[in-house]
Formats: sequence, structure tokens, C-alpha cells
Amino acid sequence: MNNKLVLVLNCGSSSLKFAVINAENGDEIISGLAECFNLPDARLKWKISGRKESSSLPANSAHAAAISYIVEKIIKKEAGLAEQFIAVGHRIVHGGEKFTQSVLVDDSVIEGIEECASLAPLHNHAHVLGIKAAQAAFPTLPQVTVFDTAFHQTMPAKAFMYALPYTMYKELHVRRYGMHGTSHLFVTNEAAKALNKPLDQINIISAHLGNGASVAAIKNGKCVDTSMGMTPLAGLVMGTRCGDIDPSIIEYLVTRKGYSIGGVMDILQKQSGLLGISGISSDFRVILDGYAEGNERATLAMEMFSYRLAKYIASYAVPLGRIDAIVFTGGIGENSHLIRTKVLELLTIFGYQVDQVKNEAARLGKQGVITVEGSPIAMVIPTNEEWVIAQDAAKIVAAL
Ligand code: AMP
Repeated sequence: MNNKLVLVLNCGSSSLKFAVINAENGDEIISGLAECFNLPDARLKWKISGRKESSSLPANSAHAAAISYIVEKIIKKEAGLAEQFIAVGHRIVHGGEKFTQSVLVDDSVIEGIEECASLAPLHNHAHVLGIKAAQAAFPTLPQVTVFDTAFHQTMPAKAFMYALPYTMYKELHVRRYGMHGTSHLFVTNEAAKALNKPLDQINIISAHLGNGASVAAIKNGKCVDTSMGMTPLAGLVMGTRCGDIDPSIIEYLVTRKGYSIGGVMDILQKQSGLLGISGISSDFRVILDGYAEGNERATLAMEMFSYRLAKYIASYAVPLGRIDAIVFTGGIGENSHLIRTKVLELLTIFGYQVDQVKNEAARLGKQGVITVEGSPIAMVIPTNEEWVIAQDAAKIVAAL
């Protein structure tokens, strides 16, 4: 019997990712995805003990129906599993300035998440639906919320403020919040262990490179700057998001092409990044294939991706002073030795020298240093956001 299991829920507007995690060692007992909410073909797929299964959900199902199915038809079917649960952990995208750490859910927390919803409308409303459905399904289990923005709340004002009229910050909360905090936190803890340094003395640059991508400067274990902004649109070149652009481009597109603001935002969020540049895909594997075949626009997409990332990393020498390691994580960061090589080559001014054998070996979930002896350190650390959520939930429950 192992009373350390946490049901981790990551509720989006039209889908829900879930996992049952052992908070002590990160073992994943079940993982799955419910999708196509509010559509006739709402469905669910999951993996349990290596077995893949799937089912349709009643037409137009959403969060409550999906959670009820997960509890009744998956979890309760495994003898003794539900009895080992200690909490439900919820991933929350935006905690604004209100939430600087994970918290036990009560009515005021739900209100707080609703208050931050203007900063992430699609996500935060869905998170509240997920919390309420989980409370109904597990009335006696503590619910814990873990915020993607919380890790970045240690940024100083000079890093999080935009040079806009100050009232926009005071009245409308316009500032940099940063995202992927749960991943950057995990990577920071793991880097401290790997480099054998106390957490409060480690300086790293963490590059989370997935469909969404962000980089964070971490000084003495705390975030001091990051590339995403008030929303996840800012910073690096991403799968379909543009990252940093001149804001006047928006007005230019509206006046020259007659787009609505919504139309321009759709371009910036869904038609830009690797997809927009390459014209072939937002998927980095397809971009890599195009690059290998000499496709010009795939090559340009690769080059822009690595150049923007290297520039961000170099700029974080300013707040950090000393860099103990650059850490690559996320689907691209964990798997593409080529992008790691390209980025580190652009940073030769700092002395990085890649060990190609180690670099090519660090993939498919393998952690390791990828630079030669004597070079400043760059490494790969596979992220595990679900485990952070499970650990935080377990810590909070243990303190009750
Ligand atoms: P994530 O959002 O962290 O799941 O990462 C998704 C991104 O990782 C997509 O762009 C994938 O193409 C990319 N990715 C996954 N596996 C690989 C791989 N073996 N090599 C390069 N990129 C990969």
C-alpha cells in the first residue's frame, strides 16, 4: 500500500490531461487525455501499466463528465487504487500577482483564480470547472492548486515591468508574469542536485523548448527574468506563436489589410512561429526533416529559433553574472541534439564546447551534461511538471 498518490489534472478549455502520480518517486501509474469537449465526438484515451486504452464519452461531454468517467471507470476499477489517493493537484496557468506558491483550495482560492481569468481567460475558467468537478468527485480529498506563474513572482520590478504608463500596471495589472514556472522549478531543483550545489546558490539558465517555449534566468535558485510576458505569446520563436515582435506591426496589419484585432491575434498565436516561417509545420521534427533535405524556409525557421534563443541566453548574463549551467528541457530541448549544438555554437563567446557523443546520447528522457570537460556546463534535464504538482500537493497535505 502506498498512500502517496496524487491525481494531477491539467484542464484546458476543450481538453483535460490527467495523471496519477506517486508523489515520492514520480512514478506515473496512469496518464491520459480527454478531448473534444462540448462536441459530439468527445473522447478519452489513457495509459495504465503500459496498456493503452480509449473510449468515447457521451456527446458534448466536458470537464465534469470526463472527471466522472476517469474516477468511476478507470480509477475505481483498479482494486485499492482510489484508497491510496492523498490529494488532487491542479495545474493553473495564471495566478497573477496573487499566488506566489501552491495552495490548498478553498472558496477564496477559487475566487482568486477567477479574478486572474482576465489574464488567461480560456485557461483559468476551465481550471475552475476542473476544480469544482474534482471536488464533486472526491468530496473528502484535499485539492491543491499549482500555478505556472508562481515561480516567476521573484522577478524584480526592473525585469517584470513594461515601459508603459505606470497606471497600466497599477490599474490593469499589465506586466510580465512568465509561464512554464513548474517546469523551470523542476529543472532548477534537478540541476542543483546534479551539480551538487545548494539550491540557494545555483545560477542557471533554463530553456524549456516545446510547442510553447520560454527561457528563464535563475539566480540563487530564484527566477530573476524570463522570456514570456503578460501572456505566453512573448519571447522565443515557438511552434505557432511569434514571440517578440514590434507592437506597431499590429496597427500596420489592421490598417493595411483590414484585419480585426482578433484576426491579427489569430495570426500571431496560431499562424506564426515555426509554422509561419517554414510554411510546412509547427512540429520541430518536420522542421528538422526539412532542414536535412535543404528546404530553405525550414532552414530559416531553425536558424531563427536558435538565434533568438541564443540571444536571450546571452542577455541573461546581465542579471546572473555567473552561469553554472544552461539547461535544455521540453520536447525539443530534450530530444534535438542539433538545436542544442546550434545554440551553443552561437554562444562560443562564453566558451561552450559541445561533446557530440554526450549530446547525441541525451535524448528520450535521458539526463546529462553535453559539454566537454573544462567547458562551461550545458546539460539536458527532462522535465516532469506532473511530479512537481504531486510533490507540492503532498507537502501541503502533510502540513494539514
Ligand atoms: P512539448 O510541447 O514539450 O511536448 O514538445 C513538443 C515539440 O517537441 C514538438 O515541436 C516536437 O516536434 C518536438 N519533439 C518531440 N520529439 C522530438 C525529437 N525526437 N526531435 C526533435 N524534436 C522533437
